[in-house]
Amino acid sequence: MKRRLDISLIIDMLKQVFEREKGPISLYEPTFLGNEWSYVNECLDTGWVSSAGKYVNQFEHLLAEFTEIPYAIATVNGTAALHLGLLLVGVRHNEEVLVPSLTFIATANAVSYCGAIPHFVDSTKETLGIDSLKLRSYLGEISEIRAGGCYNKQTGRRIAAIVPVHTFGHPVEIEPVIELCQDYSIKLVEDAAESLGSRYKGQHTGTWGEVSAISFNGNKIVTTGGGGALLTHDPEVARQAKHLTTTAKLPHPWAYEHDQVGYNYRMPNLNAALGCAQLEQLPELLNRKRKLAMLYKEKFRAVDGVCFFEEKENTLSNYWLNVLLLDEDHAEERNELLERALRVGIQMRPAWTPVHQLKPYQDCPRMDLSVAENLASRIVNLPSSPKLW
Ligand SMILES: *Cc1c(COP(=O)(O)O)cnc(C)c1O
Repeated sequence: MKRRLDISLIIDMLKQVFEREKGPISLYEPTFLGNEWSYVNECLDTGWVSSAGKYVNQFEHLLAEFTEIPYAIATVNGTAALHLGLLLVGVRHNEEVLVPSLTFIATANAVSYCGAIPHFVDSTKETLGIDSLKLRSYLGEISEIRAGGCYNKQTGRRIAAIVPVHTFGHPVEIEPVIELCQDYSIKLVEDAAESLGSRYKGQHTGTWGEVSAISFNGNKIVTTGGGGALLTHDPEVARQAKHLTTTAKLPHPWAYEHDQVGYNYRMPNLNAALGCAQLEQLPELLNRKRKLAMLYKEKFRAVDGVCFFEEKENTLSNYWLNVLLLDEDHAEERNELLERALRVGIQMRPAWTPVHQLKPYQDCPRMDLSVAENLASRIVNLPSSPKLW
């Protein structure tokens, strides 16, 4: 007879991790340890709360410095940064963009905002990110290269870009994805929304793509309340990004001249002030996240039927949302685990519903997604607030 998951033991282990905490444990809470109050107050005192003020430029500077990239452009949220990034690499109406199905819906939504169509690809159990080997053989079957572009033979549409996601902060194996992009003339837009501070072979995630997007939503490792940023190495892309985020207004002391249909996507000063204080704390936040992850790893080492998901060789994860992977034969017990944890005040979550199963995206092109579906059925996100350590 099959052994059941020892849910009581799992909950005991969780309680040991949170032994110093009183009250319910949420999945993620922001942590404010430094200058957050004084910087935000300064915005209020001086009246600089909106689209101008010193903190936005300072935030961009600090972010670029931290991730070791020349340009960062702050946006109203991560989805807006992704949307801009896709536009700037040339994604147009009625083209296709390769997107993992195991991601937050925002990745696919940004593609839709361009009038383009997400084409869903599978993930690997090793990284939780895009399976580049499987994708390479799939592209070999369904696509052809003509006129400098990659075309889907079945739909006739150009496959313009790929958006790998560093899932829950764990870096995708990015080098094979870059090779694929070179071989198939596909542009690389990194969704590093969750992975600020994570590295692949020592280099920050978000600095491998032609452009990348980061999110500063309230549940991300650094928050600006709501916010995002686009990262790039290319000065011309940076200039265009800034132009497009500020309604494509031409600089002038008083005239309203706009030379394109732009967006109101620039991060307000109030949010950037919070962000500057948060970025000052980032090394400490990363340190706490790592220690919390190591504690989970130790507690779950001896528990049968589950496996704490660890960073892979050559990578450094920010452990944004910690992942407990149930063994294949325990997937049906996942909901019971979530319910019982909730009853004792511990909030855990399943992975996202794979995007190809969501109503707006059910008819999109896709490859075999069996691994993404399998992973989605047995991932449990553990409480991951930096304050838990
Ligand atoms: C959070 C997130 C986004 C979107 O960021 P917002 O700032 O919420 O718009 C995009 N992709 C992934 C994978 C995310 O986790």
